[in-house]
Amino acid sequence: MGETARKKVFVTRALPEEALNILKSKFEVEVWPGETPPPKSVLIEKVKEVDGICCLLTDRIDREVIEAAGERLKGISQVAVGYDNIDVEAATEKGIYVTNTPGVLTETTADYAFALLMATARRIAEADRYVRGGKWKIPWGLMMLLGQDVWGKTIGIIGMGRIGSAVARRAKGMNMRILYYDIVRNKKVEEELGAEYVDLETLLKESDFVTLHVPLLPSTHHLINEDRLKLMKRTACLINTSRGPVVDEKALYKALKEGWIWAAGLDVWEKEPTDPDNPLLKLENVTASPHIASASYETRKRMAIMAVENLTAILEGEVPPNLVNKEVLKVRPPTT
Ligand code: NAD
Repeated sequence: MGETARKKVFVTRALPEEALNILKSKFEVEVWPGETPPPKSVLIEKVKEVDGICCLLTDRIDREVIEAAGERLKGISQVAVGYDNIDVEAATEKGIYVTNTPGVLTETTADYAFALLMATARRIAEADRYVRGGKWKIPWGLMMLLGQDVWGKTIGIIGMGRIGSAVARRAKGMNMRILYYDIVRNKKVEEELGAEYVDLETLLKESDFVTLHVPLLPSTHHLINEDRLKLMKRTACLINTSRGPVVDEKALYKALKEGWIWAAGLDVWEKEPTDPDNPLLKLENVTASPHIASASYETRKRMAIMAVENLTAILEGEVPPNLVNKEVLKVRPPTT
């Protein structure tokens, strides 16, 4: 321990006890109380005095926060795989290591993406509202709450990385034709699952289900816009468990309202929490959830432990297992 015992860590939200105990056994730990993110002024104050930060995707660690950091801030450990809330370039310039939690949430997120796909296709949330709302009047209706078949249909996966591939495996089990689009070709899913690599336009035109698994980057912001929604089938469902701004919500509202596509399942939103007055929530053909695709007991615990292990490695002078900005090693080698 020695020197590491004096190192300070700021944790922006309570973590599962197992994870927090690992940090507490090694460092001086301060946890921000409450469930909402610490205000920017607090982040700016904390980065001046701590060696490491453990944060969530709702904490905006932008250039201003990073530039306020003191010399001792060495690591920012995110408890999520996506890290679009952190200005990684600014962190690299300052020699600050940034880590994430890839892999441990892949299967859980893919389970949820598929659950949302099925729920959207078969109108499960709407059916629940129907029963509870006293709308169920006849014992059985031949044409009541009809949905779309999933078995044997075509799925279009945009972003065939870890989660996209896990969704493809589930789709294979449903006897689906699998199309995918990515900036990198994934030979493994082609060989193992028979997935077909196509351009974005073909994917949108031919898929019954379009599911998004790209990170949020300038190149994926509003990737699904008005023009692309117009290419989709009128019977198609759009599923988004990636990041809200990958879809232009205004265009999506038009598409759903005017019937360019059939339905959407949305776990992520342009602004989170989304406003209860968001017009999308007034549409019966939207299945909504509050960014919970990785939310299982086991996975959230694994993510927190992984984030804590990343931060511990950084503060103990090692290269952390899930370093996002590898170039930082040139700016600040691991033992300094
Ligand atoms: P990954 O890096 O393994 O896969 C992302 C894929 O997207 C890669 O294959 C990459 O080449 C591709 N890609 C990047 N830019 C692209 C572009 N412009 N066009 C097409 N493809 C592009 O990441 P992952 O672990 O599969 O996670 C994907 C994303 O899912 C994360 O970045 C995160 O934002 C989101 N996510 C959301 C939740 C949730 O709770 N809703 C949970 C986990 C992950």
